[in-house]
Amino acid sequence: MASARMQPDFDCDHDGAALSLDQALEQTQRGLRPVQLCQRLAVKSALARVLGEDVISPLDVPAHDNSAMDGYAVRAADLPAKGETASLELVGAAFAGHPFEGVVGPGQCARIMTGGVVPAGADTIVIQEHTQNEGGRIVVPGGYVQGQHVRGAGEDLARGQTVLRAGHRLMPADLGLLASLGIADVPVVRRLRVACFSTGDELRSLGEVLREGEIYDSNRYSLHGMLSRLDCEVLDMGVVRDDLQALRTAFAEAAADADVVITTGGVSVGEADHIRTVLAELGEVGFWKVSIKPGRPIAFGRVGGAAFFGLPGNPVSVMVTFYKIVQPALQLLSGRTPQAPLQLRARAVARLRKKPGRREFQRGRLFNDENGELCVEPASHQGSGVLRSMSEANCFVVLPEDTGALDAGTTVTVEPFSQFV
Ligand code: AMP
Ligand code: MG
Repeated sequence: MASARMQPDFDCDHDGAALSLDQALEQTQRGLRPVQLCQRLAVKSALARVLGEDVISPLDVPAHDNSAMDGYAVRAADLPAKGETASLELVGAAFAGHPFEGVVGPGQCARIMTGGVVPAGADTIVIQEHTQNEGGRIVVPGGYVQGQHVRGAGEDLARGQTVLRAGHRLMPADLGLLASLGIADVPVVRRLRVACFSTGDELRSLGEVLREGEIYDSNRYSLHGMLSRLDCEVLDMGVVRDDLQALRTAFAEAAADADVVITTGGVSVGEADHIRTVLAELGEVGFWKVSIKPGRPIAFGRVGGAAFFGLPGNPVSVMVTFYKIVQPALQLLSGRTPQAPLQLRARAVARLRKKPGRREFQRGRLFNDENGELCVEPASHQGSGVLRSMSEANCFVVLPEDTGALDAGTTVTVEPFSQFV
């Protein structure tokens, strides 16, 4: 019986010589070592940077037992049984930032506002709405348990506890968290320096006039965006002609300055001759076919002291290979704790065209239908040169190697773009 793998070639995208995505990831990440250098930055300047060391809490948070509600601080022992009331003497008040200096003794209570320190002697907060003020005495109900509405000292974080781990990328909540601990500056890993240039005689940069057969270089701009969001320092080296000497100069300059060199174009069969020659002189580079679509041809290795990624020329292939292969490597180099992509399941609202063979990262738009169900609409043009499909999309639709075309209504795996930063 014919298996899926034995289907005739014209109906199949299978490529025996290609690496799987997992193999490619394993090979690209194997030899990479995170950059070591750290610098200290003020908390406000550390957003999106990677922590170089664990952060240990120097304090208990909160520092004191405090009230979660507006009401009265009481001794639980004074509270009556459920259904009964007790009348307590009011002896003082505790406001946020203005503690009650006295002690709440037996039969007494103190007014307290949210965030106020629970006074000595008291252990429970009776909320305002449950009380009555009868001529200066406070009538409280039964049914409370000891410690109710009290936020305990060290409840959020205890002194000595690890708050954030090395490798964590600092988000807005983290800046607040660090500030809550009185920490003014943090050690962060230095930014990666990434040099990139586009190759191709047909390419022009913005501001230049196009002649017959020429196109604007778009890859450098999408690369610039992706690298900037990863907080890399980008060394933009422009367009380099398909010319042996120009490539030699560009690669030597890029490798001298950068941790990573990324190029686009010129890695497909028959086109890569100059690039191959130069890379053989300056480093060790393998030319691969990776079994994904778009983005099959890719070069990877080392040029001088820098890691090198030679991405395909087609604009969508550049973005897919960047997100799927380059970005995990950059994260590893910058000391970030690796994370598998977040995947969701969504119902495809249109038919998905595909041949068995390669893992495809089609572009789609995720949305909630009128019932709140997660749905995905595939982009109408899935060509690897159609950058608009990427711009209009907000997710990849991930279709496994063996899958063929799928009917509308099929549940598929999607990866939201919002996570690729
Ligand atoms: P290549 O991989 O060099 O054969 O390029 C494949 C396709 O991508 C060709 O149609 C190129 O014109 C196009 N291409 C290559 N580099 C770029 C670029 N930087 N910006 C836009 N399109 C490009
Ligand atoms: Mg080219």
